Amino acid sequence: MSDAEADLVILGGGSGGYAAAFRAAELGLSVTLIEKDKLGGTCLHRGCIPTKALLHAAEVADTARDGEQFGVKSTFEGVDMAGVHKYKDGIVTRLYKGLQGLAKAHQVNFVEGTGTYAGGTSVDVDGTRYTGKNVLLATGSYSKTLPGLELGGRIMASEDALKLDYVPKKAIVLGGGVIGVEFASVWASFGTDVTIVEALPRLVPNEDEFASKQIERAFRRRKIGYKTGVKFTEAKQDDSGVTVTLESGETLEGDVLLVAVGRGPNTAGHGYEDAGIQLDRGFVVTDERLRTNQPNVYAVGDIVPGLQLAHRGFQQGIFVAEEIAGQNPSPIDEAGIPRVTYSHPEVASVGLTEAEAKEKYGADVQAFTYDLGGNGKSQILKTSGAVKLVKAPDGPVVGLHLVGDRVGELIGEAQLIYSWEAFPEDVAPLIHAHPTQSEALGEAHLALAGKPLHVHG
Ligand SMILES: Cc1cc2nc3c(=O)[nH]c(=O)nc-3n(C[C@H](O)[C@H](O)[C@H](O)COP(=O)(O)OP(=O)(O)OC[C@H]3O[C@@H](n4cnc5c(N)ncnc54)[C@H](O)[C@@H]3O)c2cc1C
Repeated sequence: MSDAEADLVILGGGSGGYAAAFRAAELGLSVTLIEKDKLGGTCLHRGCIPTKALLHAAEVADTARDGEQFGVKSTFEGVDMAGVHKYKDGIVTRLYKGLQGLAKAHQVNFVEGTGTYAGGTSVDVDGTRYTGKNVLLATGSYSKTLPGLELGGRIMASEDALKLDYVPKKAIVLGGGVIGVEFASVWASFGTDVTIVEALPRLVPNEDEFASKQIERAFRRRKIGYKTGVKFTEAKQDDSGVTVTLESGETLEGDVLLVAVGRGPNTAGHGYEDAGIQLDRGFVVTDERLRTNQPNVYAVGDIVPGLQLAHRGFQQGIFVAEEIAGQNPSPIDEAGIPRVTYSHPEVASVGLTEAEAKEKYGADVQAFTYDLGGNGKSQILKTSGAVKLVKAPDGPVVGLHLVGDRVGELIGEAQLIYSWEAFPEDVAPLIHAHPTQSEALGEAHLALAGKPLHVHG
């Protein structure tokens, strides 16, 4: 059997795959979408959505604990993990239903099964060959571990940490990137004694150094332990706990060890290499139009080197659909993809770090940091942090970095400023509602435009 009519055959129904499917269908193309598990992929079922539900439950726990600071009598009595999972799973289930409805409405031919890329523009699923005019590879990523560190039992990656039915008393988190920091934040709010181990010199090492300093300070205040610039040597577990040994010789004890050392491309065992798809350290090599080395075969999402984020996958999927529909979309600017770490406090950024900007534009790059101490709404929320702008010499704002509770919601404006190549003088006259945290963005631009309002010294 074959599916010769499909304009696009997609392997993998996660963020990248389904976005391509929906956009292609909107453009009048016929689409076959092959998925071995659940439509929605990692982000919906094991990633973005469930972790953010946990982070919100964590915020509720903090609010209960801290009520007195606001004159409200409340006590934190503990966490009922069954209740947390019910809340979290309810959200995922509702969104999953919605997504299935969208696939139906778009008349996507959904094929349930494990696909193997068969070369050319064909994918095989259980003995059936689906041949399209184009193929899109979107098989996503998996949780990596380190050599000699086997996952299982008390040693787990995010997939199992999400399902944990108890709150650990003590947890060790290996990896101080986004996933590690988010879980550390959740567990600390739930009452766990957490220690993060990061081999690089700072937490959230992909962010501007300013953001690392801010989050480290906030975590110190929250009594979240962290050890940076130190490598893991081994982990042993028994019935009572996990012992982690570090290169420094120090040992750490915990009930669980979360391994959050990054995600590898899920490209092995799907026929890619056999059929001649060019890979680099397991990632699918594409050009800026997301074409692989095989004619009419594209790749999107976490298997393509770059930021492993759901909204990048969405945009890449949309790009490929528009490309094959002949719309000649503009290539995606990777630096313009917003990044948010949803911990308490949040870290949000878009564009270049100060170090990257200096590399690109030289030493005359300007930077300005506006402390949330001057922002009324942040004071009301009792959050601290700052907004940092990075500006090219005689040029636009090329990087925006924010730290503080809820600042992830400000990244939309930050992205417009970056993507529209705004100068501080363009943003300064725009009015930000008072009191909102967005005023901090406005104030930073006012200051860089030479007319600071609520800025000390
Ligand atoms: C804990 C965690 C938290 C995260 N939080 C965020 C966040 O807050 N914001 C954000 O932007 N990103 C977040 N991410 C990242 C985000 O989930 C990924 O970037 C995104 O899911 C990548 O989309 P994708 O389409 O490339 O792959 P996936 O979503 O992984 O989808 C790939 C799909 O392909 C299917 N598949 C694989 N092989 C085959 C095969 N041979 N046949 C058929 N089907 C196959 C899989 O079952 C899967 O459904 C998080 C990730 C994790 C793990």
